[in-house]
Amino acid sequence: MNQPVTQQIIALFAQSGDEAYFGEPVTQLEHALQCAQLAEQSGSDTDTILAALLHDIGHLLPADNGYMDGYGTIDHERLGADYLRGLGFSEKTAQLIEHHVNAKRYLTFKNPNYFARLSEASLKTLEFQGGPMTAEEAADFEATPYMKGILQMRVWDEQAKIPGLPTPDLAYYLAKLTRRNAQDWCF
Ligand code: FE
Repeated sequence: MNQPVTQQIIALFAQSGDEAYFGEPVTQLEHALQCAQLAEQSGSDTDTILAALLHDIGHLLPADNGYMDGYGTIDHERLGADYLRGLGFSEKTAQLIEHHVNAKRYLTFKNPNYFARLSEASLKTLEFQGGPMTAEEAADFEATPYMKGILQMRVWDEQAKIPGLPTPDLAYYLAKLTRRNAQDWCF
């Protein structure tokens, strides 16, 4: 992982980061930065902060399977996770991203009242994402190694929609990526 990775991510946000976060009062970039800020404020590790920052990067990539009626890219969580794996991001970061939609499907299965709190956009995308989990899917999900982190990501995802909230910028979080790589990854 080196300079071009950072540049690729900056380019994706430069291209589409100003677009609205589907039906919510913030842009894609604001949503990403607010999520990363919540992760950092909670004392999370760098892999988790990067996952929070990049959890919706699949929406900024070319769509493989089409779009959800104006609510983003189908399978954006898998698309984003695989893209980041290809760039050399950690498996933890990839899994936190890959399963963040599952967290919503799991919570709507576990707690029907959770439905009532979902935003209109979240309800709309839930239809595309397969609706609430079945009991069997929920049991599989409970066995995933990062379940706690995945559910935590979901909470931040829902909170990160505050218009005008000040946050550090993209460069601040991407510097963490560069520092993390210098420590843990071989270029
Ligand atoms: Fe999100």
